[in-house]
Amino acid sequence: MLLIVLLCLEVAVRVMIEIRERRLSQLRGGLLSVMRIIPLVNDIVPLPENRCDPENSLFVEKHEEGHAALHHSILRNLVKIAFLMVAVWFLAAMVIRWNASFFEAVLWLHLVAIPFKYFFNWYCWNQEYEADAYAFKKLGKQAAKSAMQQLAVCEIPYSKLFASIYREHPTVALRSQRMLKKVVGSRTSHPRTK
Ligand SMILES: [Zn+2]
Repeated sequence: MLLIVLLCLEVAVRVMIEIRERRLSQLRGGLLSVMRIIPLVNDIVPLPENRCDPENSLFVEKHEEGHAALHHSILRNLVKIAFLMVAVWFLAAMVIRWNASFFEAVLWLHLVAIPFKYFFNWYCWNQEYEADAYAFKKLGKQAAKSAMQQLAVCEIPYSKLFASIYREHPTVALRSQRMLKKVVGSRTSHPRTK
């Protein structure tokens, strides 16, 4: 019973997030938007981040170099493995100790994993900020600014709340705010930001 209540609550919250996002961005969500609302399905539905491929600039190269120098992908994978191990333990405990059916256990895992996913995104965001800071230090303000402007043209403009729930990358607005102490964005991609 509690499981059903929590799943209904999840659907309701996700619907509210989608409505808020459609209002803010003035963009239609389409099929992906519907899929994000359905429990379990939303664990695998992809989130497109860009409308087009951003140009490969020196800043992007240095950003990637920063990821490599700071061992980000290894750390990220370690966190993923740790989560996976906890998930397997959780499923086993649910089925063996608490006699839950496998499907029930999977649904519980889905719910329990939501805050962990949020934490994982936060962790990834910090890595992105670190890689940005690395590139900024190597190339300076002007290169960072033009790279952010290029990226903003291609980026699908998600709000901060939406991005923090669904994206592993911070938005251009947040990245430029961190690096340049001001928001860089193209006017077309951020209709509601001043
Ligand atoms: Zn990155």
